[in-house]
Amino acid sequence: MSHHHRPAASPLHFSVREIARRPGAQSIVSTVVPAPAVLGTDMIGVPEGADMTLELSFESVSEGIWVHGTVAAEAIGECGRCLDIVRLPINAALQGLFAYPDREFPGDDESEDVFEFDGDVVELEEVVRDAVVTVLPFTPLCRPDCPGLCDQCGARLADYPDHVHDDVDPRWSALSTLVTDESLTEQKEN
Ligand SMILES: [Zn+2]
Ligand SMILES: [Zn+2]
Repeated sequence: MSHHHRPAASPLHFSVREIARRPGAQSIVSTVVPAPAVLGTDMIGVPEGADMTLELSFESVSEGIWVHGTVAAEAIGECGRCLDIVRLPINAALQGLFAYPDREFPGDDESEDVFEFDGDVVELEEVVRDAVVTVLPFTPLCRPDCPGLCDQCGARLADYPDHVHDDVDPRWSALSTLVTDESLTEQKEN
């Protein structure tokens, strides 16, 4: 362990000082860090502060530092059909090129995976966020065949698979009578 460096400001900031400007040099990092805020979508995501396992390889190339590896965590969300909690283990591949501002061939800037950096600290928030969001389901489900909620009483149909409504709820019949009476009254007034 080296104690020469100050700890990075964020758990997702990695100093690459020792391999920068040394093409061919490599550094392997395996670590567990707290998840940053807003890691997911409105429907599902990794809660802020939850454990996130990173397996990372930092490779020094002529343009900068090429980072690739995986991020593993548990995403938590809500079933899109029955609103039950959904817990989904995820394991996403990530990659990005952190390029020196003065590199000789700055041609790849249009790629989403290229980030300019100062040659010292790689900031992985965006790379991790992109990787996680990519593997999250658009509509999370508690199980693939979740039957959802009863459209009459809101019961979770997975818990009450056989329940039926024989007749219209008495409260609804009362309401429909009321509506009819009102429209009759309106007609008379007109
Ligand atoms: Zn469900
Ligand atoms: Zn029902």
